[in-house]
Amino acid sequence: MTDPQRECRRCRLADRRTQVVVGRGNPQATVMMVGEAPGRDEDRTGYGFQGAAGKIFDQVLEYLGLSRDTIWLANAVRCRPTDDGRKNRPPLPDEVIACRPWLMDDVRTVNPQVIVTFGRTAWESLTGGSWKDVTAGAPFPLAESRWAVALYHPAYLIYRRAFWPQYRDHLDRLAAFLREMGVSTDPASGPFLTMVR
Ligand code: SF4
Repeated sequence: MTDPQRECRRCRLADRRTQVVVGRGNPQATVMMVGEAPGRDEDRTGYGFQGAAGKIFDQVLEYLGLSRDTIWLANAVRCRPTDDGRKNRPPLPDEVIACRPWLMDDVRTVNPQVIVTFGRTAWESLTGGSWKDVTAGAPFPLAESRWAVALYHPAYLIYRRAFWPQYRDHLDRLAAFLREMGVSTDPASGPFLTMVR
């Protein structure tokens, strides 16, 4: 059966995409993670968080004792935002609004206890709140006994090494909350982000 999401043309981003980058992972996951939108690599492969930001994302998962197989991974916007097919750009507000029903479909279907968002777009689309009020790594209550936790987007870290210790504090706060929620975590030992060049 055709997945209507893969055929979606609700916004202009349908015109330049290679494919819709749909959510993936464990459909019974306790933890869902939400990124902003596909970039060039994600558009090409169909998988979220590729390239340099993807390497950081994988280290975040490792640090938290999670993996791509144990979580559900989705984007707030599912087609690559680009004006010329070469450069990525941030999604526009109407594109985020157009794509939000797919995000909420994933939330209803997967039914996670904890939803971790990466960056402003994902947070604001999921919660309807403002990014400026966020305390990174701290739990925020949602309807139906769910919790949201905001983290900065991995792409923000690529050229900001001075921010990494602060980011690790955010992850430690999140890891403590996941343990409190009974989400089994087996955190990696050793320093965070050692492999990222
Ligand atoms: S970005 Fe979302 S709403 Fe827009 S065409 Fe793609 S799947 Fe549809």
